[in-house]
Amino acid sequence: MQTDIKKNINNVLNSINSSCQQANINANKVSLIAVSKRKSIENIQNAMDIGIKNFGENYAQELNEKNKLLNSDIISWHFIGPLQSNKVKLIADSASWIHTLDREKIIVKLNEACNTFNKTINGLIQINISKEKTKNGCNPDQMLYLADLVESASNINLRGIMALPDINANASDRETEMREIIDLSKKLQKKYPHASEISMGTTNDFEEAIVYGSTMVRIGELIFGKRT
Ligand SMILES: *Cc1c(COP(=O)(O)O)cnc(C)c1O
Repeated sequence: MQTDIKKNINNVLNSINSSCQQANINANKVSLIAVSKRKSIENIQNAMDIGIKNFGENYAQELNEKNKLLNSDIISWHFIGPLQSNKVKLIADSASWIHTLDREKIIVKLNEACNTFNKTINGLIQINISKEKTKNGCNPDQMLYLADLVESASNINLRGIMALPDINANASDRETEMREIIDLSKKLQKKYPHASEISMGTTNDFEEAIVYGSTMVRIGELIFGKRT
């Protein structure tokens, strides 16, 4: 198992490097978030052994338990799951990044929770680009409104946007969605130049996402194997 995870991570890092080369991007502009949801502490330690520091989790309770068990100053936890307001405290307690800010109520609650922990968290606004589906994320035309709120929240740093392009869409529809996200990021950076992160791309589409301009790829199964 350990050699598999090691080998898988090396393969993923090589693919990230070649996509960066292809797009003429400096490879250190793209961060790898290893998505460890429903995977064991041992699996996470295997990934840490070869230098992975950024881990993504979807469930507040699981994130909190893993954070307590590992008790590591090296790890940065990224919360990438849907947000429920009664779970915001658990997330504020454990995470350094939150990728799924998509509504006013959650932004206000998260800011309050971070304030009680006396910490600042990095925030990305999740945008719903495949609008027909009932997915999480705000409507693109709400992005700047939510960005203003995050920017004025003293315990959240506005860092950019996140999106989940439809992995079942055909190549041309996927391209349209990825381009739309890049355009929205440019619009955001015009007002907030520091909010330059674009969290886009998973096991299925990270190479394409990097070529379009993603700066954070969230990869689970390609590193840790299928989730059962
Ligand atoms: C599970 C998940 C991932 C990782 O997906 P893989 O297909 O395992 O790479 C990335 N982003 C989000 C939001 C997820 O929920």
